[in-house]
Amino acid sequence: MGGNAGEKRGGRECDRRVTGVKQGKGGSNVPTNIDHVVLMKSIAHRFAVSPRHSALPPRLTAMSTLPAPWANLRGMRLRVVLAGLMLIAVPFAAACAGDSGAAPVVTYITPYAPPPTPTVAGPSPTPIPPPELLLSATSVYQAGAILASLTGEVSSGTVTFLGRKQQLAKGTQSLYTFLGVGVLDPSGPAEIHVEFTLKNGTKGTLTEPVTIVATDWTVDSLAFTDEQTANLLDPKVVEAENQLLAGVYATYTGEKLWDGPWLVPAPGAITARMGEQRSINGGPPSGHHGGTDIGNEEGTPVIAANSGRVVMVKELALHGNMVIIDHGGGLLTGYGHLSKFAVQEGQDVKGGDVIGAVGNTGLSTGAHLHWEVASYGVRLDALRFLDGSNGF
Ligand SMILES: [Zn+2]
Repeated sequence: MGGNAGEKRGGRECDRRVTGVKQGKGGSNVPTNIDHVVLMKSIAHRFAVSPRHSALPPRLTAMSTLPAPWANLRGMRLRVVLAGLMLIAVPFAAACAGDSGAAPVVTYITPYAPPPTPTVAGPSPTPIPPPELLLSATSVYQAGAILASLTGEVSSGTVTFLGRKQQLAKGTQSLYTFLGVGVLDPSGPAEIHVEFTLKNGTKGTLTEPVTIVATDWTVDSLAFTDEQTANLLDPKVVEAENQLLAGVYATYTGEKLWDGPWLVPAPGAITARMGEQRSINGGPPSGHHGGTDIGNEEGTPVIAANSGRVVMVKELALHGNMVIIDHGGGLLTGYGHLSKFAVQEGQDVKGGDVIGAVGNTGLSTGAHLHWEVASYGVRLDALRFLDGSNGF
């Protein structure tokens, strides 16, 4: 990267020219500006004409001095200023012999093509087109989730949403992650911020606005016996179990273990929704139910909602006999109050495999399945994985 002032004049050879350097961390010279003439297959051109990046052409149109700017990017000279991971193209006085034209000011959000070769002789290397961010929804309820996928030649990436940073996991045709909205996350505008690295080392960022919609939580009145109240609602018991579950739900596997649609893990009526508030023995509504309750007779088979790996089979004070399955990419499902287990820890399961049976173990007032979903530890409404309200 030391050769920073290479230059060739005329025609296509003037594709990329580093014009300045600054001292980077570690003492290496980091180019600050690249004079860039847009070729038909260059990143800028492909990005500009891609119908999938609809946000960009208006921005280019607004900022460019050309009448039909982004369609005519070919041959246009841009000075590309390296600002962090972003490229900002600014006017560049003609430097390439034989070239003429306007000097628009444009900003484009595209991966920064590393400039290891300041002088390009012969055909330009083919840049990697920028990736595309696909969101299952841009409006999501509290306790809902957005499935974010990044397609293209991406080697890795992270997504920051609601202050939480998540890895993009390897999917079938893209990198992906489930961006969960917690029951306590505020409604209103939010932002999805993606940082990615392409397979050629190029880094870049993408940002998309989304809206979080408030959920109206239901309230349920429950009655517990004195013994249950005394033994099982002990804050220390609750806290210890929450800590244990938080640890298990923090499991991260960088590959996709789930496959296909999500299944209802047991037949029966929904007796309590996720996020429901509870009034216990006449007290004020408090807390948010951490799962979906499905009532049915003890012994009713419980199946895995999707493929994955069993990471916990354990008897707990509140959740009773519980199985947790890792579906990869930070997404896990839990099944509580089971009367019996049909799987062991470490076992791979397919969606639909029997993992246990409905029961009444733990803090429970009748036989039912307590079904949980969590992404990066954020408890989500499992029913939204079935009803399409998350957009997937
Ligand atoms: Zn429950």
